[in-house]
Amino acid sequence: MKKISIVSAIILITVVIINSCGSLSVKLSEEGTGFTPAQAYLIKGKHTNSPMRVLQSDNMEDSLFLREICSPVDPVADKNLLMTLISRMQATVTDSLTAGVGIAAPQVGISKRVILVQRFDKEGEPFEAYLNPAITHYSKMKQDCREGCLSVPGIRGTTKNRSYAIYVEYNDMDNNQKGELIEGYTAVIFQHEIDHLNGILFFDHLR
Ligand SMILES: [Zn+2]
Repeated sequence: MKKISIVSAIILITVVIINSCGSLSVKLSEEGTGFTPAQAYLIKGKHTNSPMRVLQSDNMEDSLFLREICSPVDPVADKNLLMTLISRMQATVTDSLTAGVGIAAPQVGISKRVILVQRFDKEGEPFEAYLNPAITHYSKMKQDCREGCLSVPGIRGTTKNRSYAIYVEYNDMDNNQKGELIEGYTAVIFQHEIDHLNGILFFDHLR
């Protein structure tokens, strides 16, 4: 998600009602885990701290790739490559040329369920990585948010259907399953980045 100088999310401070219960929809399995040789080559291609090329929606080949459904990662079996990928994704999203508040692995050419989110709701506003994230609860209350995307040049728009609060389940690097309630602008970043893992771009919500 692209950095927006003035956070324009309209956040209503009120009680949030989280509806329904559910379970983690993305489960790890043998099928679909592990990096391909081509992915490993791309991840290891340069220094571990160097930015990666960000795919662009106005490029035909890139735009097709950005619409793919990403496969899960295995945090244990793929640990070394995962750590390199996360390091390079952070270098990319914090690079002055591609500064943003979040990034998903498909944006750097890796069709895996990995995202980085800047936690504006935490002290120091750190970037944190989430593996196999899935939203299992959405608040009925919505929020408006002006969004942009590192992969969508020249377009910004105000989405009106982002939930104010969400419950996100994910795996950590030790393959523990975790869950967390996220609210406000940070919840929009999670929704935006998890959309990327399912081939959805923010302007799909503007229609
Ligand atoms: Zn994006």
